[in-house]
Amino acid sequence: MAYLALLGGTPTRTESWPTWPKADENTERLLREVLFSGRWAISGMYGGRAPFERQLAEQFADYIGVGYCVPVCNGSAALVVGLQALGVEYGDEVLVPGLVWVACASAVARIGAIPILVDVEPETLCMSVEAAERMISPNTRAIMIVHLYCGMSDLDRFANLSSSSGLPILEDCSQAHGARWNGRAAGSFGQVGAFSTQDSKLLTSGEGGLTVTSDPELYSRLQQLRADGRLYQSAAPQLNYPDLEETGAVQGHNYCMSEFQAAVLLDRLRHLDEENSIRESNVSYLRRLLAEIGDVTPLQRLPQVTTATYYHLCVRINRAAFAGAPIELLRRALMAELGVFMEPIDDPLNRNRLYNPLLSPRTSDEHRPLLDPSRFVLPEADRARDECLTFPHFAFLSNRQAMDQIAEAFAKVRQHRHELESISLS
Ligand SMILES: *Cc1c(COP(=O)(O)O)cnc(C)c1O
Repeated sequence: MAYLALLGGTPTRTESWPTWPKADENTERLLREVLFSGRWAISGMYGGRAPFERQLAEQFADYIGVGYCVPVCNGSAALVVGLQALGVEYGDEVLVPGLVWVACASAVARIGAIPILVDVEPETLCMSVEAAERMISPNTRAIMIVHLYCGMSDLDRFANLSSSSGLPILEDCSQAHGARWNGRAAGSFGQVGAFSTQDSKLLTSGEGGLTVTSDPELYSRLQQLRADGRLYQSAAPQLNYPDLEETGAVQGHNYCMSEFQAAVLLDRLRHLDEENSIRESNVSYLRRLLAEIGDVTPLQRLPQVTTATYYHLCVRINRAAFAGAPIELLRRALMAELGVFMEPIDDPLNRNRLYNPLLSPRTSDEHRPLLDPSRFVLPEADRARDECLTFPHFAFLSNRQAMDQIAEAFAKVRQHRHELESISLS
């Protein structure tokens, strides 16, 4: 008789998990307000009050503690306009972590620039400062740092690297809404901060994105880049006329966020800190349980992280203690025990099937060898791929009992590890 749920044994947890995304009557009220407001986009007519998009921009800038925010249609667009605002051009090199969601690198390639894949720190899985420094060349124009899963990039050391090299930082916070480093919000460290508000993120409108900056010049460029060269006019708006002004000082594109998305975000932003703190408290409890069990170690929380976020809780597993089972088999065994979807960590971008810059029809012969992802060597990213698993953030909006069950599932799979030897992965 098998004990493991994967082989027909009794699962460790049968209760349901919290669902995501969340909405309530207030979300509904704001959506209805947009619906009958006569304005669904910032390119619509001024209706006598600031569009939701502007209200959101003001509140989010305040929340991050920066001067300005420009909402956009998704996180990838936030990276594109962020890079362009910073002056990254065709053929320029941009340092990108070698272990992240594909959009971080493909956004760079999209504007004709060259993503330079940099290996990560084993403790946080964020870009390694030493590796980044080694990869800087005379063609480097920017450094894209990404706060990944539950970790933060070492912002003190990247700030030093930025000032010693003169390279601006684009700070991708798509997995760290509300995280704080010495009390200061993620997104306020880079010259431009970028956020995705896609369905799975800690702050979501289904699709959406946000850029932030404290530099008025960058703010003006970001606005025009995302609205076909238009920005909010400085003169008082006139009722039932557009309130965007056509400047054309920058070649922009339409990356605008709709009023519906902005309304949802305005509502959900009010819940972010509380949700982050529930997750933080549950994960602290789980960290203690896992430390007692051993062989399962959550990624390190650097001492400067004063508010940690848990887009994914990422744990590293000592596979030797699990009879050397492949990480994919452990993932399936744990999912069967717990009944929750656990995403594998991203494939390193030098061997990620979603990252194919050479397939882009516009790639020049001159750039092909530079864009080839397989030229980059990423040993720590590779090792992490074979040893790490993640839990989704909504699992930590549950209770202590669920944390007990997560810990119990690891102990159970380890105890009955020999049952896994009979399973072949197809
Ligand atoms: C989700 C994500 C993106 C892309 O955002 P989209 O809204 O899906 O375009 C970019 N960077 C990181 C780190 C992400 O997690």
